[in-house]
Amino acid sequence: MRKLSDNELRLLLNIKQNKQIKDKLNTVVYARKSSEDEFQTALDSQIAQCEKLIEMNSDFLRLDKKNIYSEENKSGMFAYNRDKFQEIISKVENGEVDCVVVHTLDRFSRRLEDTQKYLELLKKNNCMLICTDSPMEENAMGEFMRNIIGSVSQFFVRQTAEKTYRSLENKARDCRITGGIPNFGYKYEGDHYTRDIEESIGIEIMFNGIVDGKTYTQIIDELESFNIKTRAGKKFCETTIKSILQNVKYCGTYTYNRKDGKKKKNRVLLGEYEEIRIENGITEPLIDVDTFNKVQEILKGRNQCRRRSNAPHHLLSGLIKCSCGQVYVGNCRQHRKGGNYYTYICKGRTKDKSCNATEINANHLEDFAKSIVLEVVNGQIRNKQFDKTLIIEYLKKQNTKLKCINREIRDLNSAIDKQIDLMGATQNKLIIQKLTEKVENLTNTLSNKEKLQVKYKQEYEIIEAKINKIRNGIELTREELFINPFKTRELFHLLIKEIVIDGDNIEIELK
Ligand SMILES: [Zn+2]
Repeated sequence: MRKLSDNELRLLLNIKQNKQIKDKLNTVVYARKSSEDEFQTALDSQIAQCEKLIEMNSDFLRLDKKNIYSEENKSGMFAYNRDKFQEIISKVENGEVDCVVVHTLDRFSRRLEDTQKYLELLKKNNCMLICTDSPMEENAMGEFMRNIIGSVSQFFVRQTAEKTYRSLENKARDCRITGGIPNFGYKYEGDHYTRDIEESIGIEIMFNGIVDGKTYTQIIDELESFNIKTRAGKKFCETTIKSILQNVKYCGTYTYNRKDGKKKKNRVLLGEYEEIRIENGITEPLIDVDTFNKVQEILKGRNQCRRRSNAPHHLLSGLIKCSCGQVYVGNCRQHRKGGNYYTYICKGRTKDKSCNATEINANHLEDFAKSIVLEVVNGQIRNKQFDKTLIIEYLKKQNTKLKCINREIRDLNSAIDKQIDLMGATQNKLIIQKLTEKVENLTNTLSNKEKLQVKYKQEYEIIEAKINKIRNGIELTREELFINPFKTRELFHLLIKEIVIDGDNIEIELK
């Protein structure tokens, strides 16, 4: 057991002087144990430790057996209901006690406010607290306080954050909104997601654009032509569109705490929280699941091409074989004057130089493949063997889109009429103003939908014309068939089995 520190001895002498005590200081021992903490030192051993300390310092301290106080099942978080503790405090106030000895400071109190309050009280009454484990010096106390404050506040902050998180998590499990701004295309109705008509047109343009093989630049231009801007009123950029295209919320899957989502900064929470994902959790999805999945496939394919620009290169990747047995892979080279050009190169040459077959200009090879594919398609058209099912299906789909938008336009028109009728039925200026605003909004939406209608009609007509040509056995031009690089690649992979390159000899084998 330790001897009292110099500082403690100085304090003792001060008390002696102040109280004009000739003999030793009158000391009490306080021990406490609460039911909830099983790791606390037993009362007996707490008392034994205190007695030992007093004995070690018996030149200064005196302990009467009746001055040993102990309490069981009393939490250190409170002081008011600790009777023995309160008894000591009133003795201190009466000047009957000069020194209180406890095993550790937390026996005295666990609550920061109480610790401060009662230490002040002791000091005021010329009484000091001694802990058997370490001297209660100014510095030590200061440090203790700092630690306590730090850890206590941290604990509370975490607890609050955790509580908030749990309540958000519960909301999320009901597919309710958890705060923040809804994703573009959605708005809040009550605490659920619902479609924002105008923004949702933008979402539709993005997803359909990808399905139709458009480049990001083309999609951005289309959004601009409909005057669809980001919420900040800016032009959409590729990155934003990409992240929208990959967000499952758009096909109705409610997510919370997405693993692949943005990590929130300054997160107080320590633990990893599970991702919540509820299929069909959003009742009014903006995109059907099939379209969404198709877009994911297309995006995956595009990424594999590792291109910088939007249009795909290496439309024949995976189809070309070298006479050495290796495959040809896509390669990108830089012109001296700037800009890229694309080639195919034998893997045997790039990997271990086991082959010295020449690198092939991608454009030339693809042009050659195009002529062959065009001939195949036109041959089928000429001989009326062409399988029209696929394009007819596409035409049907386009027709459904058109019908859908026609219906929406009809509904919007009748909604506008209704508002105008209502306006005639009231004199109330406020209501009239509200109705006018509504009509304005509806009219805006209507004009966007009408633009979309024109676009769908044009698309429909182009496809219809193509089908009619095919029906009448009229051949397609190169431009008509290879209108879009993504579709061209699909066509290549559909019709070509293998391209074998042997020196200058190129052989294209069809399926
Ligand atoms: Zn080779």
